[in-house]
Amino acid sequence: MNKKEKASKIQTILRKLYPKPSIPLHHKDAYTLLIAVLLSAQCTDARVNTITPILFAKASTPQAMIKLSIAEIEEVIRPCGLGPRKARAIWELSHILLEKYQGNVPNTFQALEELPGVGHKTASVVMAQAFGYAAFPVDTHIHRLAKRWGLSSGKNVEKTEEDLKKLFPKKDWITLHLQIIYFAREYCPARRHDEDLCPICSLYMLKGVSD
Ligand code: SF4
Repeated sequence: MNKKEKASKIQTILRKLYPKPSIPLHHKDAYTLLIAVLLSAQCTDARVNTITPILFAKASTPQAMIKLSIAEIEEVIRPCGLGPRKARAIWELSHILLEKYQGNVPNTFQALEELPGVGHKTASVVMAQAFGYAAFPVDTHIHRLAKRWGLSSGKNVEKTEEDLKKLFPKKDWITLHLQIIYFAREYCPARRHDEDLCPICSLYMLKGVSD
């Protein structure tokens, strides 16, 4: 079985397990999604979802956000970790959105990645989930699973993203990124896994996949 066939079988299983995966980070528009994704760096989505309602009750637009001080933002978001850095990034990017984009979130990778605190993965999530652009955001979960499934031997997330994009249909990238994340959390954590319970590697065709 070649990698494309394997990818297709995996996709069939993921589709059955997670037919309509919802976006895990609560948000109401592109701006609140951008802030939530930025906060999720080195933090769980569940924790971000407990903090964003408090932050967005104070400020859910760039206009309102820059009226807060960086210290006020930091006080709210501290439980997400990296408080000083994230608070400064949120305040500064809100300023830039107002100065350069009339308070809107830009819908290009280049413009997004120029914003403070926004890397390629964050930009990909926003492009995919806010604007419906066919992106394939690869986080550490997806990077790990692509390797375990033998779909990519990429040393970094950029290479893994490139490999996965070649294996899966473009129209499914956004959904797949969510399905793989849900699968990783449920079955395939970083430190332990149970091959017998797992609906993917327990298939005859994938036995022996190294992890
Ligand atoms: S057997 Fe392990 S490595 Fe393979 S998909 Fe399942 S949990 Fe992941």
